[in-house]
Amino acid sequence: MTGRRELTLHSLRLRDERQPAGRRPAPAELGLVQAFANTFWDLDRRRPERLRTPAQLAAWLWGRGLLARGVGLDERDLRRARELREALRALLLANNGQPRDPVAVAPLCRVSRGATLRLDAEGHPELAAPRRDLDGALGLLVAIVARAQLDGRFERLKACPGPDCGWTFYDASRNRVSTWCSMSICGARVKARHYRARRSD
Ligand SMILES: [Zn+2]
Repeated sequence: MTGRRELTLHSLRLRDERQPAGRRPAPAELGLVQAFANTFWDLDRRRPERLRTPAQLAAWLWGRGLLARGVGLDERDLRRARELREALRALLLANNGQPRDPVAVAPLCRVSRGATLRLDAEGHPELAAPRRDLDGALGLLVAIVARAQLDGRFERLKACPGPDCGWTFYDASRNRVSTWCSMSICGARVKARHYRARRSD
């Protein structure tokens, strides 16, 4: 594999990622966006941050086909990737009825130049980034978001608003009514909190 080969959806390696409450993952490549958001999730882990070092970020991206082997990343790259992830979470919280924060979302606009929509050899639309480096990887993730916004799948991808949660899940319910990653975890916590608040009135 050359270090600079372009990145397309065909390059990706989609994996089984951990899902809240036995839910189905987001379909196809949107599952990769979900998995990226869930590299930080702090409900039941003592070390919620999976991207603690540039090497961990590189390994995560490489393991999913987003980065060529041998591409080195540094602390600045790590900051960019985490910043993008939290911008993405702001959108995912907005999908779950939370107010949209334009400042938090801004990093998504900055990397959206990393990938383009074009026609493949058979005349079908194809997402591609010119290089399999960090710009390409982040650009492709944002392009996947943009395409899923157009076809309606993205609004089903939601971050859980539970206290200390933020876990991203795919809401496959017919009317998109799911709020919590899991009723038995965050749903129950919030109910208990409301119950305590009423008792102390
Ligand atoms: Zn939750």
